[in-house]
Amino acid sequence: MPELPEVETTLRGIEPHILNKEITSVNIRQPSLRWSVPTNLIQKKLVKNTFSGITRRGKYLLLQSSQESLIIHLGMSGSLRISKEEDLKKHDHIDICFSDGTILRYCDPRRFGCFLWTENPDTHFLLKDLGPEPLGNHFNGEHLFALSRKRKMPIKNFIMNSKIVVGVGNIYASEALFAAKIRPSCKAGRVPRKKYDLLAQEIVKLLRESIKQGGTTLRDFVGGNNQPGYFKQSLKVYGREGEDCYDCSFEIKGQRIGQRASAYCPNCQSIF
Ligand SMILES: [Zn+2]
Repeated sequence: MPELPEVETTLRGIEPHILNKEITSVNIRQPSLRWSVPTNLIQKKLVKNTFSGITRRGKYLLLQSSQESLIIHLGMSGSLRISKEEDLKKHDHIDICFSDGTILRYCDPRRFGCFLWTENPDTHFLLKDLGPEPLGNHFNGEHLFALSRKRKMPIKNFIMNSKIVVGVGNIYASEALFAAKIRPSCKAGRVPRKKYDLLAQEIVKLLRESIKQGGTTLRDFVGGNNQPGYFKQSLKVYGREGEDCYDCSFEIKGQRIGQRASAYCPNCQSIF
C-alpha cells in the first residue's frame, strides 16, 4: 500500500512534468473507484486549463487548477506515472493528457483510490478532520500526549488515526513503536509523556529516511511500462513475526490489533 513517503515521492516525481502545461483531454476509462469519479465535472474543469501547483495532505495529492483542486488518493494499490507513449495496461483507469504529448496516467488494480474535485480542500469531507502533518510544525510528543489522555485504545491504533496525525500507516507505526520501545497494544492513555516525545521523533525520522530513499526512484515515474515502485524499507519488526529481533535475539511476536497484523519484540518493547 502506498504510504506517506510514496505519496510524497509521487508528488516530486510527477510535478516537474505537468505544471503549467495546457490540458487537452481527460480520459476516464473506469470511473468506479472508491467513490465514483465525477467524469463530466473533472473534464469541464480541466480541459483547456493547467495545473498551477501540487501539494500533499496526508496521503491525498491536491492538484491545483484555477483556485480549485483535483484530489487524488492512491488507495491500496494505485500509482501515477508520466507517459509519452501509448503503453496502456489493463488497470490504467485515467489519463490526463497535455498539449506537449505528456500523459499523467493513473493505474489502480484494486480501485480503492479516488479522483474527486473540490472548490475548497479545507472543507472537503475527506480532508476537513485530518490531524497535523507528521513532518509539519504542529506535530510533536506534546501533541500526542495531550490527545492521548484517558484514551483506552491501543497506542498503535491511536497513532494510525488520521484525526490524531496523518500518514502513519502500519509499517511506520510498527517500526516507530519498536524504535521507541513501546508495546503496540499499550493503552494510549497510559504511555508517559517522555515516551511520546521519543515516539514522535522516531515517526519523523522514519518518514524522512523513507522520503530520502524515495528520491532515488524519481526517474521511475517517467516513461516505459513499469509502475513506479514502492521502495523497500529496512524493517526491524514489520513482517518479521517468528524471526529473531536484531537488537536482542528474542523472537518477534505477532498480534492482531484493530484487525491489523502487529509485530513487536516482547523483550525490547515495554508495557505501560
Ligand atoms: Zn528485541
